[in-house]
Amino acid sequence: MTGWGGGFFGGPQAQNAARDAGLPHGGVPGNLINQVEAVLAKEPAHPAVEVNFSHRQPDDPPLTLRSFLWPHRDSLAIALLLVILETAMMQTGPLLTQIGIDRGIIPGNFDVLLMVVGIFLASVIVHMSSSSMRIRFTGRMGERLIYALRIRVFSHYQRMSLNFYTDEKAGVLMTRMTSDLEALTMLFQEGLINFAVQALTLMVITIVLYALNPSLATLTLFVVVPATFALSIWFRHVSNHYYDLVRDRIAEVLSDLQESLAGIRVIAAHNRHLYNVINHTNVVGRHKDANLQGVKSASVYGSSAEAIGIIGQAIVLVVGGYMVFRGSLTEGELVAFVLYLTAFFAPIQQLVQLYNAYQQGQASMRKLSDLLKNKPSVIETANAKDLPPIQGEIVFKNVSFSYDPAIPVLHDINLQLAPGESLAIVGPTGAGKSTVAKLITRFYDPQQGVISIDGHDLRNVTLASLRRQLGVVPQEPFLFYGSIYDNVAFARPDTTTSEVLQTCQTVGLTDLLERLPNNIYSQVHERGASLSAGERQLLALARALLARPRVLVLDEATSNLDMLSESQITAALDAVLEERTAIIIAHRLATAMRANRIAVVENGRITEIGTHEELIAHSGHYAEMYATWMAHVSTRGTSHATSHDT
Ligand code: ADP
Repeated sequence: MTGWGGGFFGGPQAQNAARDAGLPHGGVPGNLINQVEAVLAKEPAHPAVEVNFSHRQPDDPPLTLRSFLWPHRDSLAIALLLVILETAMMQTGPLLTQIGIDRGIIPGNFDVLLMVVGIFLASVIVHMSSSSMRIRFTGRMGERLIYALRIRVFSHYQRMSLNFYTDEKAGVLMTRMTSDLEALTMLFQEGLINFAVQALTLMVITIVLYALNPSLATLTLFVVVPATFALSIWFRHVSNHYYDLVRDRIAEVLSDLQESLAGIRVIAAHNRHLYNVINHTNVVGRHKDANLQGVKSASVYGSSAEAIGIIGQAIVLVVGGYMVFRGSLTEGELVAFVLYLTAFFAPIQQLVQLYNAYQQGQASMRKLSDLLKNKPSVIETANAKDLPPIQGEIVFKNVSFSYDPAIPVLHDINLQLAPGESLAIVGPTGAGKSTVAKLITRFYDPQQGVISIDGHDLRNVTLASLRRQLGVVPQEPFLFYGSIYDNVAFARPDTTTSEVLQTCQTVGLTDLLERLPNNIYSQVHERGASLSAGERQLLALARALLARPRVLVLDEATSNLDMLSESQITAALDAVLEERTAIIIAHRLATAMRANRIAVVENGRITEIGTHEELIAHSGHYAEMYATWMAHVSTRGTSHATSHDT
């Protein structure tokens, strides 16, 4: 459980933080202090947020509108009470008008008229205050619901295993969190309660219409209700399809956008701008088409519902007028009837629009529900134990693995690493080297066999306790937007500045830090775009080293580093590997030779394993690779050997 403080400018808390840091007013000049304090006093205090995260999927019921709203039924009930009050007050007008006409104006009784106006005013005031309370209440409830849903979906994303991210496009996942949630926000904040207001209004008016004149009411409703009902069923059927399509298409638009932004360097290098614009035009066009289809059905629905209403009003005027001639209806009653009928169609039209919003919200809910149904493939069992501090013995026993059941990747791997031993894995591209690394970090589970650390089967330990003791340096180190400090202290945010500085020195980042404007607090751009490949690699090493792992899994960078960076990284590696069990996916034989042992992986099997000398003596594939490399080095006259696996 982690408690995070409020935002950066978080009112009184920021003030306290500045004070704790020995800055009474965070550097604000003396004459402004009073004004600053006055502003801060008005700022809301942001309470610390309590966040629970577990790798185990909670047993929440499937996400549906009902299951999601049920825990908030109390708030909904209060909102509904306010709605009833609001609706009742809103509908007093025509009734009071009828009393005013029939008992005040026609008999000439001014006192009755005054009293009616007085009651009318009072009802307006009650209506106004209950309506404002209700809007505030439902607004707050809507925000709380969306907040809970955002956290639920985000936690789900954090929990999912790597295969989920291989299968799903990042843009689609972004859409679920943005556009889909927005559609639901509209529904929660306005839609649902407004739906209740309008439905209730309809009921109240129906009762009043019957009280005024049962035969006229029956006639009107007989025309209006079945026609509206049939129309709504048709619309529901058609719009369900289109709104689902719209949700899929907007996900395509955002995916394409996301990919175009992420790949902008490749796009520029290969002159694909025009092609990309054409492609995006097509994707956006498909979204527009789906939306237009939805708009078309909504327009048919809306206008037909309106026409039904007008026909109803015409019938009332004809039949009601005739009743007045015959004396079976008073003028006041006819006016009230027409007024109520107008008020009867307003909610119908509102319901039509709300139903449209509801259908869109439901489409989003279905998409989110499908998303939340995904289960992580790497599961933490209910009785998983924390991995105790390890020595670092790694054992693979008869391990077989495939990403796709039809294409086996690793076959019957047996491997044993003593604590503190380093093993380099070499072999052709696609042989399964990175897959071995991914199994140790438990990004995936093998289909057969057991992987254990210090005798603990990885499937029986908690993921957090395992990964806390593992350091991973990926081939393409990912740097987050933030400072160098934030990036290095990533696995241990509670670390001290001096420790981060020392780690940066150990891996040889001192020169870089001295060149940067704010040393360790200099900003790193998104994905480390402002740093060189060698610098990014060193930062990733520093990040792994700071976490003080017992086991290090390192995927060597394949990008050709300049000689200086390469020697820096080699020196840094020596520092990092000291007394640690390490698995290094080596793309340079120079790196492989520094490891205690070398394993050659070919077609998902370990074909040779031993020390450099043993493998040379064995005269197998490794000896062959070594001979090629030596020949390459001597013809080039440089130690800068290129990747051997291409
Ligand atoms: P190496 O690191 O030796 O180059 P990998 O271990 O990355 O090779 O890949 C081994 C095989 O598994 C390759 O054929 C590759 O195409 C396949 N592969 C790798 N990652 C995935 C994945 N996420 N889903 C499906 N297949 C994958």
